[in-house]
Amino acid sequence: MRSAVAARATLSGVAILYIALMPDLRTMDLSSTICAIATPIGRGGLGIVRLSGSKAISIAGRVFQSASGRGLDEAAGFTVHYGHAVDPANGGAIDEVLATVFRAPRSYTGEDMVEFSTHGGPVVMRRILDVLISGGAQMAQPGEFTLRAFLNGRIDLTEAEAVADLIDAKTSEAAAAALEQLQGALHDEVIALRSELVSALARLEMGIDFTEEDLPPEEIASVMDRLHRVEERIDHLLAGYQRGRVLRDGFVVVLAGPPNVGKSTLFNRLAQDERAIVTDIPGTTRDILREYINLEGWPLCLVDTAGIHEATDLVEKIGIERSEGAIRAADGAIWLIDCNLDWSGQKPPEAFRDLSQMPWMIAVNKLDRASNPQEAVMKIAAHHAPTFAQIPSVVGISARNGDGIDSLIDVIKGWIAQMGMTDQSAKITINDRHRAALLRAKDCIVQSLHAISDDHAPELAAFETRNAAVALGEIIGETTTEDVLSEVFSNFCIGK
Ligand code: GDP
Repeated sequence: MRSAVAARATLSGVAILYIALMPDLRTMDLSSTICAIATPIGRGGLGIVRLSGSKAISIAGRVFQSASGRGLDEAAGFTVHYGHAVDPANGGAIDEVLATVFRAPRSYTGEDMVEFSTHGGPVVMRRILDVLISGGAQMAQPGEFTLRAFLNGRIDLTEAEAVADLIDAKTSEAAAAALEQLQGALHDEVIALRSELVSALARLEMGIDFTEEDLPPEEIASVMDRLHRVEERIDHLLAGYQRGRVLRDGFVVVLAGPPNVGKSTLFNRLAQDERAIVTDIPGTTRDILREYINLEGWPLCLVDTAGIHEATDLVEKIGIERSEGAIRAADGAIWLIDCNLDWSGQKPPEAFRDLSQMPWMIAVNKLDRASNPQEAVMKIAAHHAPTFAQIPSVVGISARNGDGIDSLIDVIKGWIAQMGMTDQSAKITINDRHRAALLRAKDCIVQSLHAISDDHAPELAAFETRNAAVALGEIIGETTTEDVLSEVFSNFCIGK
């Protein structure tokens, strides 16, 4: 198994892998032919069953009866064939299908591939899968098609991640950012930066090899120039982190306040008015509800903490801790007040205090029942103003009838803009893994610059510059550990 991976990695010249250590990938036999249903399970107009590996065309050929009478083994790449999927055991037809043939290396995985477009019934697709498995194919593991694409040098690790991001994209903005990465935006930038580092390294090593004397000043200047340029471009990439995080995970806004002020009503109102996608996040606690809404291309993750203050004693304590935890983890928060009750004793939790840490607003709710709505909002704003170093926005709303919701959304849009996320100059978005590697690379570059200018130690500078290049190599997967690969490919679904 290890040798199969090593051979592929060497062939593609792409990856240094330690797959023997990887719990998930250890069970994969990368020389096998794999198959999976690539479309969502359930009923649909069409479904796709795909196969990849050296025997893909022969295994598929035994299951496919073409209307033209020609076998798939004669088929050229990028051709589509009409016919029937049959059970080779008895010749019985399973479905009317189209078979698309891809020949290595010009396929998604870089291997021979066949995709059957079937009718989208789960029984039909499952039966086709079963006959392919009986014919010698193995069930693919999650992400295995993309892993093979990576190992065969079809895509780098950033592009593999982009495939998962594109599939998971919650809004059109998120999909556009993922597509950009899939088309190699981050890959190309990392390659360019690394080649600058390699040039700097070559100059530094020349100085070490040739002479006892210092590097000539113009060489030193050129190396430092390059290192500064790379550092600047790394900073530019790092600026795309928040944007990437928000596009992937959503801009998290927590609704908080005492019981019965209208948190759930506002949550439902926002979700109904703005909803483009509703996602249940598995694993969220029953008492904290989350929902994604599409705010002009930005996925907004609304968190409703309603209910968690309402139980008593120990349960209440846990609830409040959870609520405060949710607020601390949020990108913004809304503190709700019922303007018709005595609100003077109500104080937002500690986590709300520092506006520079987290933007938040006061939403004065139930204005539809207030005798003088304007006055109610002004009174509450005036009451809270002296309490805070910076004054939060105060918006009057009726969660019940929708009044003021546009203004509330405008405030949230302001928060998003304030985070610099609408800044189109930071177009390349990065994730946590990229950020960690970029920070390491940057640190090495700073050390290298220090070694050149302060210590006049080209060996040390070369060492740090080389480490910076290795850190950049990790982003695109040139140097990869089992943990990283497991992490990246565990996010995939079966069939991708
Ligand atoms: P939560 O406990 O903070 O989540 O509050 P709910 O959303 O469950 O609302 C408590 C009560 O207030 C319910 O009876 C709602 O119908 C009512 N309510 C919520 N928002 C409004 C509003 O804008 N106007 C009026 N009149 N009633 C509201």
